[in-house]
Amino acid sequence: MEKNIINNKIDRSWIDKFNKPITISGPCSAESEAQVLETAKRLDNKYINIFRAGIWKPRTKPNNFEGIGEKGLHWLQKVKQDTGYMVATEVANEKHVKLALSFDIDILWIGARSTASPFIIQEIADSLEGNKEIIILVKNPIHPDLELWIGALERLFAKGIRKLGVIHRGFYTYNNSRLRNQPNWNILLKFRKMFSRIPLICDPSHICGNKTGIYDIAKIAYHLFKYDGFMIESHCDPLHAWSDVKQQMTPEEVTDLLRNLKYTKNKKQNDDQASLNSLRILIDEIDDNMIYLLSERMKISKQLGILKKTKYLSFVQPDRWKYILTRSLKLGQELGISESIIENFFKLLHEESINIQKNM
Ligand code: PEP
Ligand code: MN
Repeated sequence: MEKNIINNKIDRSWIDKFNKPITISGPCSAESEAQVLETAKRLDNKYINIFRAGIWKPRTKPNNFEGIGEKGLHWLQKVKQDTGYMVATEVANEKHVKLALSFDIDILWIGARSTASPFIIQEIADSLEGNKEIIILVKNPIHPDLELWIGALERLFAKGIRKLGVIHRGFYTYNNSRLRNQPNWNILLKFRKMFSRIPLICDPSHICGNKTGIYDIAKIAYHLFKYDGFMIESHCDPLHAWSDVKQQMTPEEVTDLLRNLKYTKNKKQNDDQASLNSLRILIDEIDDNMIYLLSERMKISKQLGILKKTKYLSFVQPDRWKYILTRSLKLGQELGISESIIENFFKLLHEESINIQKNM
């Protein structure tokens, strides 16, 4: 489907009526009526626009808490009545959609694990056919596949849904980073270029996985990359949360974060500065990845060191070094990287690897 058609026909009325940034906040999971209501009441409606709580929780491993289920919908309905917030929850199949709609849930989001599954997305899209009022926010798929994410939007759009938005919650990486999910800002910049009108919301809670980095991620998303808003998890008693315990903020902490964020907005930067800073964020992310990869490489060097020592093999093996350099130079050439950079870089790596092996 033509990307321009989707972009032009997106209905932004629900989000444009709020001042930016809009914020969706509330617990990872609804646990009890008291927890849901207390969290909602302690959120400051000068800063928070929409209340969230997960009712059905897709979990990596079985036998964990998988959500409170239907009775949580009563609690969300009560939040709506008592506080006036719009309310949001995650749906992962037709049954969830039907139930959520029957409880007047305003916003349904599709979780990262569901976005990765075209059959699930199609089932959800079919069950919403022709619904022009429902707001659907699609989280990025677990892995960094932009087309799969766009495919989910296309399936929903094709069924007549127009109040569509996306949530950036970061991407899983095997070579771990200090973040729970890597932002891959470059992918989001591509998305923004293609779909300038689709509401783009950052979920720094699931990107960070703990409270400490949330502000920095939010700042990048809002000030540099002009996101429309945030989804930030909050809990009235964070230490005792039943899911994603490390990343739950108190409602008051979310207010402080948003207040600080709006304050720093006044320190305006010009366009050139903003472009420079955006490119630097992309470089920083790549540098972090390189350092994590280096550390993985060095761990293997240690294993090599032990093996060579026990088998009385020489640490320096000229044929192996020649092989490494030749194949790296070839790949470098294919990618337009100068020979001297590849050569210097791999010399350094090789020397360090030999040192590590000798010191084992
Ligand atoms: C959530 O929002 O609590 C959630 C489960 O998120 P994600 O799909 O991003 O993992
Ligand atoms: Mn969560």
